Parts: sequence; structure tokens; C-alpha cells
Amino acid sequence: MEDVLYWGHHNSGAYVTKTGHHWLEKQTRALDNSSKIWKKLATLKVLPKIRIFGWRVGNEALPVGRKLQTACLGSGICKLCEQDIETVLHAVRECPKTQEAFVMSDMDSKLPQGPFNSGFQWLEEVVQMLDANQFQFLIILIWNVWNRRNRWIHQNQLIPTKLVVDYAQLLMGEMQGVEIIAPQTREAPMTTPRWTKPAAGRMKINVDGAWSKERNIAAIGVVARDQHGWLLRLQRTNLKELTLQRQRRPVHSRRECGWQNRKVGKIG
Ligand SMILES: [Zn+2]
Repeated sequence: MEDVLYWGHHNSGAYVTKTGHHWLEKQTRALDNSSKIWKKLATLKVLPKIRIFGWRVGNEALPVGRKLQTACLGSGICKLCEQDIETVLHAVRECPKTQEAFVMSDMDSKLPQGPFNSGFQWLEEVVQMLDANQFQFLIILIWNVWNRRNRWIHQNQLIPTKLVVDYAQLLMGEMQGVEIIAPQTREAPMTTPRWTKPAAGRMKINVDGAWSKERNIAAIGVVARDQHGWLLRLQRTNLKELTLQRQRRPVHSRRECGWQNRKVGKIG
């Protein structure tokens, strides 16, 4: 049989200028939408790992049940709802447990209705409908939803949806006041110490402080995380308030902070 040329972007297999132009337009549109999503993700005021998580949603790059199923590892069924195959879209949007978080955080009415075939297609619509703050909150929320999913699968601990939403709102509030400054030149990159997870059963507490000479105020921030990087406590305190609290109650015990069952180790 003689070889023939076949153009794969049209059913007829024949290339004509009209279908060629149509295909090119489609590619350009997809590229435009894609760069819109990545640009929005790049400007989020979130921890880099949350930004990367958003990128992974758009690239179907999360280790969901469907992927494990194709590698003959498990049934692929969502372990949270046990109703459907766990795809990226199911995990971050369609699962009833995720929907619960959307309703509880009042995001459900703001999100596009679909149906969608992939995380990317969903994000395409989402970036059109949400403003910058709403988009930021959504990515933080689905990151927390994903962490809750993993904790259930790997540790058999189910974090209540209310707590997942509370964590997301807390992180969102903290990030509002953060100013992201891009490095000026490639020759002088900023070096940031890498955070490492504490050992199992321990909690790592990071503390930072700031002082404004002009306003004569000082504040401290405290972030506590467990061995999975899961946020246990996030607190920002104005030192004036702290002084007033100390006058009223001299000691803040670990029990008062809700940490009575945690071993406290050396900060590092
Ligand atoms: Zn599910």
C-alpha cells in the first residue's frame, strides 16, 4: 500500500487553508487562556507550594485515584465519598466533600456551573468569573481540601469541613497583609532558608517579629505546623495587646493554647 499524507487536525485528513486557519485560531485561544491562568497563579499572594498546587491542578499533575488505577494500584474510587472515580477535577471540584467546603465558604454561588472535563478547563472558566481575591481564596481553599483528602487517605483522620474552611480563611487573612517583592536582578537573588518538616509526633513553631520605629509599635507572628506541614495554629499579635493581656493574666499555658497533647521540640 502506498503511503499518503494525512493531516490529523481535520476528519477528512486533507489540509486546506480554511481548516488550517481554524485550527491555528483554536491553538491561539487555548494558549491565551493558558497564559491567563498561569499569570493569575503567578501573582497570587500565597506560599509557593500553594501556587505550585494550582499549577498541578491545571496540568492534571496530582496523584489521584484514576492515575493510581492505571498503574494497577487500587480501584480509583474516591476514598472520601466512595461515589465516583477520583480525578483531579473530582478532588478539587466535584466531590461532595469539596462541594461542602464551597457551600460553607460561600464560594459555590461564585463558581462556574460546568460541566467540565479537566482541572484546566475548570480553571479557564474560574479565572474569567472570579476577581483576584476570590481566585486567591479558591486556590488556598482547594489546597486545604486536597490536604484534608491526603490526611484521610494516609492517616485515617478526617478534618471537619468547617475546620478546612477556617484554615483557608485564616491563611487568606494573613496573606492579605503580605507584600511580595520581586528580586531586582538575577545577579543578586534573595536566599530564603528552606523550611523543613518536624519529626513525626512533633510540632514546629516558627516565630518572627517586626518593629516600626515611626509608629513605635512591634508585633510577633507565630506559625505552628505538624510533620505533614499541616497548619495547626497561626497567630499574629500586636505587642501592645500582649502587654495588656500579660497584665491581666501573667501565664499563657500550652493548655490554654490548645496544644496540651503536643510534644514541643527545639525550633529549627
Ligand atoms: Zn469524592
